[in-house]
Order: sequence, then structure tokens, then C-alpha cells
Amino acid sequence: MSLDSHIEEVLWTEDQISERVAQLAAQITEDFSKTRRPPLVVGVATGAFLFVADLVRRIPLPVSVDFVRADSYGSATLSSGAPRISLDLKLDVNDRHVILVEDIVDTGHTLSCLISHLASKGASSISVCAFLDKPARRKVNFELVGDGKYYRGFECPDYFVVGYGMDYAELYRNLPYIGVLKPQHYS
Ligand code: 5GP
Ligand code: MG
Ligand code: MG
Repeated sequence: MSLDSHIEEVLWTEDQISERVAQLAAQITEDFSKTRRPPLVVGVATGAFLFVADLVRRIPLPVSVDFVRADSYGSATLSSGAPRISLDLKLDVNDRHVILVEDIVDTGHTLSCLISHLASKGASSISVCAFLDKPARRKVNFELVGDGKYYRGFECPDYFVVGYGMDYAELYRNLPYIGVLKPQHYS
């Protein structure tokens, strides 16, 4: 059975995603074209892997790329509010302009935790680029560092979404669009 048949509703198509990614990349290119050192793009694994890949290919500037992993113990569709960094960066963030790239901001706990971590390692600014943002579920407001900026792709309604890197039970990350699962596929 095809993966598409698991999806109840498509929220953003592949074309809508790529158009929005191009706009975000153009804005980032403009904002970071004059920094003294190349910006450091830090993707939050695993969910941001496709977004990072698409975004950096559309930024025609020198940039470094690294990944970090933060896990929160919770159920498959609700985060617990206590993330911890389970895989740290390889690159040194000291004195770098960091652009933290996330698939989706939900409660805000993951971003707050990662921002404090990167700030404590001496990042000179921290920006956030989140493909989706679910403001209805925000519990903590993250604070950008230095002259960091906030970029977001789309505001997401309060549904659990999958695709374009985002999983349910480690499946569906490879869907090229973003959608909502049919209820029978949640166990
Ligand atoms: P937060 O710490 O902001 O509550 O949650 C952030 C993480 O929870 C996201 O990076 C993502 O991995 C996961 N998450 C939050 N909402 C969704 C959603 O609707 N779908 C999926 N697949 N993951 C989500
Ligand atoms: Mg994530
Ligand atoms: Mg997940």
C-alpha cells in the first residue's frame, strides 16, 4: 500500500513548500550577506534534515552546516517539556552567527533548551528558522541572541503533522509534502 494512502489531508504541497523555502532563503541571504564570518546553519536532527538540505542549496553564500539532536521523553505526539541534548555539534560555535533550523516549533521547549546551550558556547548571535510554527501550543517563549532574527515558513494549525522530515513513530519523514495522518494509522 502506498504511503500517500495513509494521509487524510495535505496541508502544504511540495510546490508550496519549495516556493516558501526559496523566500526564506532569499531573506536569509539578504540578512547575512555582510557578516564577518560565514553563518553556521545548525539543523535539529532528525526532523529538519530535508528543510536544511533545501534551504542551504538556495543560499548562495559561504555557510557552515552542522546538526544537533535534542530528545524529549514523551509520547509519540506530545513532548514532555524536558528536552536534553543527545548529540552535540561537531563545529565550534564560539563567535559564530548561528541559524538554528527546526522543522516545527510546538511548546518551544526544544528551541529554548538549544538556544541556551548555543549561547553558553559563545555564539555571537542566534537566529531561528522554523518551517512550521504552532503558536496555539506555545508554553515557553524562546529568546533570540544578539541581533538574531526569527524566520518561519508557515503557521500550523493545531494538528499533529507528518512529512517533509517530520515523523510519526519514525515513519513518514520521506513524504515530500506535509499532511495529517488518517486516524487508523496512529497506534
Ligand atoms: P517543542 O519542544 O517545541 O514542543 O517540540 C519540538 C519538536 O516536537 C519538533 O521539533 C518536532 O520534532 C516535534 N513536534 C512538534 N509538533 C509536531 C507535529 O505536529 N508533528 C511532528 N511530526 N512532530 C512534531
Ligand atoms: Mg524538530
Ligand atoms: Mg518526532
